[in-house]
Amino acid sequence: MSGAQYIDGEFRAGTSGESFDVTNPADGSLVRTVDLAGTEDVDAAVAAAERALPEWAGATPGARSDALNRLAAVLAERAEDFARTESRQTGKPIKLTTEFDVPGTIDNTAFFAGAARNLEGRATGEWSGNHTSSIRREPVGVVGSIAPWNYPLQMAAWKILPAIAAGNTIVLKPAELTPLTSLMFAEACTDAGIPAGVVNVVTGRGRTAGEHLVSHPTVRMVSFTGSTGVGKRVAELAVQTVKRTHLELGGKAPFVVFDDADLEAAIHGAAAGSLINTGQDCTAATRAYVQRPLYDAFVAGVAELFDAVRLGDPMNPQTDLGPLVSLRQRDSVAGFVERARSYGATIAAGGFAPEKGHDGTDLTLGAYYRPTLITGVGQDAEVVQQEIFGPVLVVLPFDSDEEGLRLANDTPYGLAASAWTTNTYRALRATREIQAGCVWVNDHIPIISEMPHGGYKASGYGKDMSQYSLDEYTQVKHVMQDITAIARKDWHRTVFGDR
Ligand code: NAD
Repeated sequence: MSGAQYIDGEFRAGTSGESFDVTNPADGSLVRTVDLAGTEDVDAAVAAAERALPEWAGATPGARSDALNRLAAVLAERAEDFARTESRQTGKPIKLTTEFDVPGTIDNTAFFAGAARNLEGRATGEWSGNHTSSIRREPVGVVGSIAPWNYPLQMAAWKILPAIAAGNTIVLKPAELTPLTSLMFAEACTDAGIPAGVVNVVTGRGRTAGEHLVSHPTVRMVSFTGSTGVGKRVAELAVQTVKRTHLELGGKAPFVVFDDADLEAAIHGAAAGSLINTGQDCTAATRAYVQRPLYDAFVAGVAELFDAVRLGDPMNPQTDLGPLVSLRQRDSVAGFVERARSYGATIAAGGFAPEKGHDGTDLTLGAYYRPTLITGVGQDAEVVQQEIFGPVLVVLPFDSDEEGLRLANDTPYGLAASAWTTNTYRALRATREIQAGCVWVNDHIPIISEMPHGGYKASGYGKDMSQYSLDEYTQVKHVMQDITAIARKDWHRTVFGDR
């Protein structure tokens, strides 16, 4: 890699004159200095995507599918490199990138290779009696995508794959903090034989490159994953040129434990579901509501598991949890916990930045924070209502089933949720009443390529992964063709009287 812009099938240097130091949040060491894109680079990337569009959109679904299958093979060959680079730029433990981020991305690629051949519409038919109607599912055009830093490789894949499987071309802007694996992914696309210009990556700042991409008149669809605040700004800009928008925004997932739940499963599920990716996961369990009879045992069990989690060098395969993505993010998380202390919360585990790792690593240089369990706060507390995006779980008790479900729905967000019960009726009721794009029963976190991921309420709209996402990257055209060969149609009477 020379320059850090991937445009028209090659690396180029950004022209903004600015650069950005990508650092490893485990110890602050420099991973790579990247040049940042200016608006001219965004223009060049969009122009490349526009040039590549006719050929790619015109390729057969089978040809696009073959290319994606080759991409899956290239990614598999480079799996170790992707895992190491992802760990270095984010601080993720190597076991997470090796067992989750990279294989998940390869599986997604294989899924979209299949889905590319499955552009569905309604059956062709003579609905009026005098015409044959058919549906064409066509690509939307040049897609502009903006991704966050929490799962850089997976987010790049979730954006790029459905877009190109459906015949669009794309310009992706990854987060400033974590551009490296998105660039590697774009290069892998070229190496897999996907034509130059189909996949472009610009690594600029949100306020400049991001806003320019979202506002660009040639871009016909904007797919954004990030915070709700920035999502609103993106939607405002996109509406000026009436672009299709797809917004995957913040989350504050509830974790509802009914009194008949398998307590051991719920405790383990809560610890894993809240700490995955150091809690920087938009679907992570953040608010556990536990029915009163199980409450004390649940808090004690989760606190014990939290205290046993091993923080340390992310490259050590024994390490469970790495740092947060940056010192700034760590300080933001610590701020939520300090304010909670000041309004009387009980910190049942963690609540501090540790100094030594399980493996003797000095953690003081990194953005580490101990898994933190908070109790003793009300539903209106900041830690219950706002997205913290760190290894923090808040637990609150409830009495009736109605109360538990009402509290679960009582935030502006609606991305994901889980219900823990061994009673089928309770499970069915919870899955019906919880307002979220995904409700798990007796688990929390697993995702699969075949099923959609996306929000309700302030968590946005639009689905990633699955056939639903492929459909969103297409536009539907109705083609209606006369089959009567009659020059004067009956309906003309409404315009020409009886003549
Ligand atoms: P962020 O909103 O700060 O940034 C996301 C991206 O937007 C970055 O690439 C950034 O450069 C860009 N950006 C910033 N300002 C912009 C602007 N004015 N115009 C255009 N682009 C701009 O989010 P983040 O801090 O990188 O990621 C964390 C957030 O992402 C959390 O809120 C999390 O819940 C959310 N998230 C949601 C999902 C989901 O699927 N719903 C998945 C992952 C993360």
